[in-house]
Amino acid sequence: MNRDLVKILGFGVDSFCFEDALNYICAHSGHVVTINPEMISNALKDENFASVINNAELVIPDGIGVELGLKILGHNVKRIAGVEFGKALIKCFYSEGKSVAFVGARPEVVNLAVEKLKQEFQGLNVVYSHDGYFDSEDLIIEELSKASPDLVLVALGSPKQEFFISKLKTELKSAVMIGLGGSFDVWAGVVRRAPVIYQKLGLEWLYRTVKDPKRFKRIFPTLPMFVLRVILERLNNANRK
Ligand code: UDP
Repeated sequence: MNRDLVKILGFGVDSFCFEDALNYICAHSGHVVTINPEMISNALKDENFASVINNAELVIPDGIGVELGLKILGHNVKRIAGVEFGKALIKCFYSEGKSVAFVGARPEVVNLAVEKLKQEFQGLNVVYSHDGYFDSEDLIIEELSKASPDLVLVALGSPKQEFFISKLKTELKSAVMIGLGGSFDVWAGVVRRAPVIYQKLGLEWLYRTVKDPKRFKRIFPTLPMFVLRVILERLNNANRK
């Protein structure tokens, strides 16, 4: 199975379905980016971040924003929720008896998340876990490199988690590493995912913003600007034809 990337505002996004994305990365290792409009907007302003995304081994469309943007550009690619993909990766590595590490979130959150996952996956081999509020990134990377996990789940928020993984990648060459935003909070049970109806309608972002109004400034003006840019890209593409 080979990657088949579709482009949005200059960034390649993998067009795999959930299962194929999972099978692909389990067979290859490397950095999985769960991309959203906010990250694309940031990457357009920061070339270091852009190069981290461009060098990832897998880029999955996390959320309705990128799915919609791709649709406007004529690509039918279904969104893959990072929180679900992360859980599926854990299940896959667990069933193969491989080791897992967690970095991110508040200390009590990461501990609780690991505890709950160990209940769900009895005997899960967690070789390392650390909260996401540390002084020395280098020290965490050194400890991770010693623990040598097969799968590393990183929840530091974006772009911190992507920069962290791009550095870690030089040490852990055969691991799968994924940045997962607020997923540990969901696994710990301290943050609830939106009800299924919101998820199905692609309105998870609305639910999260209503529950946590601080998120509003992350959506505006980034999201409408993103959609506008995508529409302009579509018009440009049409003119070139
Ligand atoms: N976080 C962290 N270290 C930091 C900043 C954030 O570990 O320096 C954690 C935070 O506790 C939360 C996650 O990163 O668990 C970020 O969640 P956010 O809701 O921003 O991510 P999203 O899912 O929206 O990308």
